[in-house]
Amino acid sequence: MYLLNKIFGHFAKDIGVDLGTVNTLVYVQGRGIVINEPSLVAINKKTSQVLAIGREAKKMVGRTPSHIVAVKPLVDGVISDFEITEQMLRYFFQKIQGESFFIMPRPRVVIGIPSGVTEVEKRAVEEAARNAGAREVMLIDEPMAAALGARLPVQEALGNMVVDIGGGTTEVAVISLGGIVAVRSLRVAGEKLNDDIVQMAREEYNLLIGARTAEDVKIAVASAVDLSEKIETTMRGRDLVTGLPKEITISSKEVKKAIAKSVKTLVEVIREIVEQTPPELLGDIMKRGIVLAGGGSLLRGIDEVINRETSIVVKIADDPLTAVARGTGVVLEDVSKYRDLLASREYLTAPRE
Ligand code: ADP
Ligand code: MG
Repeated sequence: MYLLNKIFGHFAKDIGVDLGTVNTLVYVQGRGIVINEPSLVAINKKTSQVLAIGREAKKMVGRTPSHIVAVKPLVDGVISDFEITEQMLRYFFQKIQGESFFIMPRPRVVIGIPSGVTEVEKRAVEEAARNAGAREVMLIDEPMAAALGARLPVQEALGNMVVDIGGGTTEVAVISLGGIVAVRSLRVAGEKLNDDIVQMAREEYNLLIGARTAEDVKIAVASAVDLSEKIETTMRGRDLVTGLPKEITISSKEVKKAIAKSVKTLVEVIREIVEQTPPELLGDIMKRGIVLAGGGSLLRGIDEVINRETSIVVKIADDPLTAVARGTGVVLEDVSKYRDLLASREYLTAPRE
């Protein structure tokens, strides 16, 4: 028995996947996060051939002939291209297990999905993972996984609140007794802020910039609040009047203004959920604070704005970009304990807008 366990235990490692709109992370039982790459697939449009996946695909973005395009398997948290998603998952699964993937027992796979995806979309994720080599697929709502990753006591009779600000969507959820009590998913997240910056560059400076430049500007100077020190960065693009390259120095203040409307929308949704939360649970949340996860939680001052608007303490999860993946890992390490959390339940509020 011991020997069998040793042999199969060694091979049949279960896998947790955070299938994000911007980043895909894979957790392997007993090993932790082993894959952390962009959710991107580069394709030759003429031949439909896949040229590169993940980090390799990202290197190609904007630097390749026009018939080579980078496709995002997920848009707004929803599978936009089924086959591409499957290919991406298969690539990552093979990367983990190497050549011997197909002679090994197939892994069980826990996948974080945005709350409020439809049954059809759930089936699509499940099937993509199965076709990519999974033996069994377990789905978990992303905010639940984020909460587990942040080590919140989601199974206790306590109110927990998580806000996962990703690339394509932000998920706001209240969790208690292993279930989601209230949830909202909105399409205002990291990439919307990048769009805001692209628009500002065009309107204020007649400057055409790419999404990657906007992302760099955001990371360098974007803020949800006024900063005490002035920070600046440069953005390069094409002058829309002359058609020639142009470089502009941009301040945190201007970027703050450009993203202000989106930040406001996001904070208002959080506030609405707080207002709808039953008083007992709210009391717990006030004591423990709102926990932020996802890359968007790294926006300067976002915790401060949420705190100001809700009067609740706000904490950013340790390593917020990996919270969902670590949460799938928590489930993997003890499936029987967490099986209850997997089934999706009925939500109090409209799941998606
Ligand atoms: P997803 O789960 O949708 O893949 P992630 O949680 O991986 O999203 O977060 C990706 C988003 O986080 C991107 O839009 C990225 O711009 C944003 N992000 C990452 N780091 C920062 C930062 N320091 N400041 C602001 N936004 C950030
Ligand atoms: Mg995410």
